[in-house]
Amino acid sequence: MADVERFKLVIGGKPVAAVSGATFESQNPYTGETWAVLADGSPTDVDAAVAAARSALDGEWGRTTGFVRAQLLRRIGDLIAADAERLARLEVSDSGKLYREMIGQLTSIGSWFHYYAGLADKIEGRQIPSPNPNYLVYTRKEPIGVVAAITPWNSPLLLLTWKLAPALAAGCTMVVKPSEHAAASTVALALLFDDAGFPPGVVNVVTGSSPEIGAALAGHPGVDKVAFTGATATGRHVAHAAAENLNPVTLELGGKSPQIVFGDADLAAAASGVISGIFAATGQTCMAGSRLIVHDSVHDELVRLVAERAATIRLGDPMDPDTEMGPVANAPQYAKVLHYLKVARDEGATVAYGGAVDEDLGGLFVKPTVLTGVGPESTVVREEVFGPVLAAYPFHDEDEAVALANDTPFGLAGAVWTKDVHRAHRVAAKVRAGTVWINAYRVAAPSVPFGGYGLSGIGRENGVDAVEAYTETKAIWVELTGSTRDPFTLG
Ligand code: NDP
Repeated sequence: MADVERFKLVIGGKPVAAVSGATFESQNPYTGETWAVLADGSPTDVDAAVAAARSALDGEWGRTTGFVRAQLLRRIGDLIAADAERLARLEVSDSGKLYREMIGQLTSIGSWFHYYAGLADKIEGRQIPSPNPNYLVYTRKEPIGVVAAITPWNSPLLLLTWKLAPALAAGCTMVVKPSEHAAASTVALALLFDDAGFPPGVVNVVTGSSPEIGAALAGHPGVDKVAFTGATATGRHVAHAAAENLNPVTLELGGKSPQIVFGDADLAAAASGVISGIFAATGQTCMAGSRLIVHDSVHDELVRLVAERAATIRLGDPMDPDTEMGPVANAPQYAKVLHYLKVARDEGATVAYGGAVDEDLGGLFVKPTVLTGVGPESTVVREEVFGPVLAAYPFHDEDEAVALANDTPFGLAGAVWTKDVHRAHRVAAKVRAGTVWINAYRVAAPSVPFGGYGLSGIGRENGVDAVEAYTETKAIWVELTGSTRDPFTLG
């Protein structure tokens, strides 16, 4: 294992071994080989990381002004952009995602830190009118405290950044628990904070192979807020654990997002948007547009266009710039996708394209799959597959399109494809989802809120308001007359 890379925990600004000395291995899903060995942390390490985060909050970091934090955030944004190539390679080795996608993501992550640098020195309280003129009242926005961030394997650093950048702008400290399937890049990122000049303990990372660590962190009494991205079922556990401490949560969970295509849509553009929504990143995104709800007048034509393009998608080495779809990220996820393909076949779905593993490539490759002959009750229409599996079914009129789109417990994202500007906005308003694209799919920016309705989560990440999720509001009353009050009256 000569070429294997080694990663430790990051606690108090330094790489440290797990207290037990234990390690675990990470396999590259393309080669199937172990490429990294990581520290296998335990709840004891979580205790140490939370203590380091608390000590940073009570120490130098807690005394920084928003102006200083803005400077530091700009610096870390620059360092990440400069190190994008290395960080992108780590993510490709861990999760099999395409280098061409990850280098784009990692290059753009700096802009999230720059955006929140712009907000760090603008976190303002208010002076509030009091009904009693003897009082001056004002509010202060204070950091909520130590934040626990629990992140998934599909875009580890991007989804961490959505939590970390606003939390640091607000003055919080953080303990991160990345997924065991893709933890290396988070360790590498955390070590950059020291280079950027952050005091030790502001960003801590505990990696490990057991779900015990996430559970210990989510329910840790030393934590003040929990921010999570991952499966809806896990999100429930996290919310229960946080509730024990009455801590607020931000949850960014699963989706079953609809792409609604009307008969007047530009079908070439819609087909391309559908492809990007479900086959980019091998369908392993929370915002995957996994349900194609298409007007019956263009159903067959659009399915043909999507299936034809799916047939030409180049599967292969994620590091090859010509590859369009990499492998499924890990063995449990691969098994899950194959399970859903079997269920779809058993329930009578028709495979317009794909529906099977790619025998030639071996490894964890599943062909991009287009299913028809499904309906609102089909399992692949109701449940999140988190893989390259599109379920297409028709509608007859606008009301039915909206009803079908909203017939889901999820509500993360969706799209409306039409040239009719009136209908576009009318339908976008009726779709119950945190993001609706019109004639587009899969666009995100630091300035635009992202999050879900229903089982897709609680709260919003990104945008100006995300900083609020990491602050507490304190009201301060100042008695102005200097007189002594009657102690037995209020106000
Ligand atoms: P999970 O939701 O299980 O994992 C997300 C994070 O939570 C990981 O860091 C995980 O750690 C951690 N975790 C696991 N159990 C607990 C717990 N009891 N308390 C606190 N934290 C916990 O996602 P998986 O990676 O296991 O993927 C499973 C499914 O989730 C996928 O098939 C997909 O459907 C969905 N998913 C959705 C995502 C989204 O963005 N909406 C992202 C990723 C997955 P560890 O991995 O080390 O167990």
